[in-house]
Amino acid sequence: MRTKIVAATLAGALAGLAAPEAAAQGTLNLYCSVQVEWCQAIATNFQRDSGIRVNMTQRGSGETLAAIRAEGQNPRADVWFGGTGDPHLAAAEENLSQAYESANNALLHPWALTQWRQSNQRAIGVYAGAVGFGFNTELLARKGIEPPRCWADLTQARFRGEIQMANPNSSGTAYVIIATLVQLMGEDPAFAFMRQMHPNVNSYTRSGTAPIKAVARGETGVSLSFVHDAVTERNAGFPVSYATPCEGTGYEIGSMSILRGARNLTQARRFYDWALTEPAQRLGFEAGGQLQQPSNRSAPLPPNAPDLSAMRLIEYDFARYGRAAERRRLIERWDREVGALP
Ligand code: PLP
Repeated sequence: MRTKIVAATLAGALAGLAAPEAAAQGTLNLYCSVQVEWCQAIATNFQRDSGIRVNMTQRGSGETLAAIRAEGQNPRADVWFGGTGDPHLAAAEENLSQAYESANNALLHPWALTQWRQSNQRAIGVYAGAVGFGFNTELLARKGIEPPRCWADLTQARFRGEIQMANPNSSGTAYVIIATLVQLMGEDPAFAFMRQMHPNVNSYTRSGTAPIKAVARGETGVSLSFVHDAVTERNAGFPVSYATPCEGTGYEIGSMSILRGARNLTQARRFYDWALTEPAQRLGFEAGGQLQQPSNRSAPLPPNAPDLSAMRLIEYDFARYGRAAERRRLIERWDREVGALP
């Protein structure tokens, strides 16, 4: 799904205030891969703070990478904000983004800067979050199904038709899940596991956040998704809980990149600097109810957000699984061995 928004039309009175300045400050074309409410808040607030007019397009991480590849020599966007880190690393390696060192790097957690160094200064961490299971407590209780605790539980017959995850072609979340399983189990056993789980999966959705929303609505019992999104749904009043897998789990470093050939480079750098500040990083929670760990050290962990330091996290090999060829190979294997199953 693609949502195109011109922040000027959304901002209403704010845009009116910023309009004279906006004309003088130019335009920023923004690709955004977090939830649409957060993308809108980013566009509106940056426009208000800077006077720069923002044209924002929201799509999933895999879909955005595909668009950036297709636009190649003639990029339509200046900055790509958010979405899982692996496709940002692939874009860096394919020379689709460009190096930048912000003075605000000094404000960030070390993991955000690890991403920056690994990408040769082309992608930087803006948030982090772990993958796990979301589940509808009322639906599972009604059906007498014990919630999942471990990856191994997901192949059991009690979850027949109850699980949703996303498709890794469009969703960065799904790719993090596949790369996590490969790192935990070894590649062949991970694919065997996904084939065994397949009869329990009722849909491979386009967007990474669709499965937890389906859990919240009671359309499916279990989602494989980021655990912070389960808390967002619970905070919105849905009977949702989450678990981090007993064997251990992987995580994302949600990232930001300036695209190669950006036509509005001054505006792109201004946005990038702004997006690393504490007030900008609070927007995920304040405007979108999002519960990731922000990369700015002064931005507080939102209330009830899952605490990554309390989880059993794998040493996710971002350098390897962010490599373009490895990413493509694993997704093609998934298409052949899992996605193509009846
Ligand atoms: N929305 C939120 C809130 C996220 O944390 C992420 C991951 O970075 C995404 C969306 C990415 O979505 P997708 O899996 O569709 O690429």
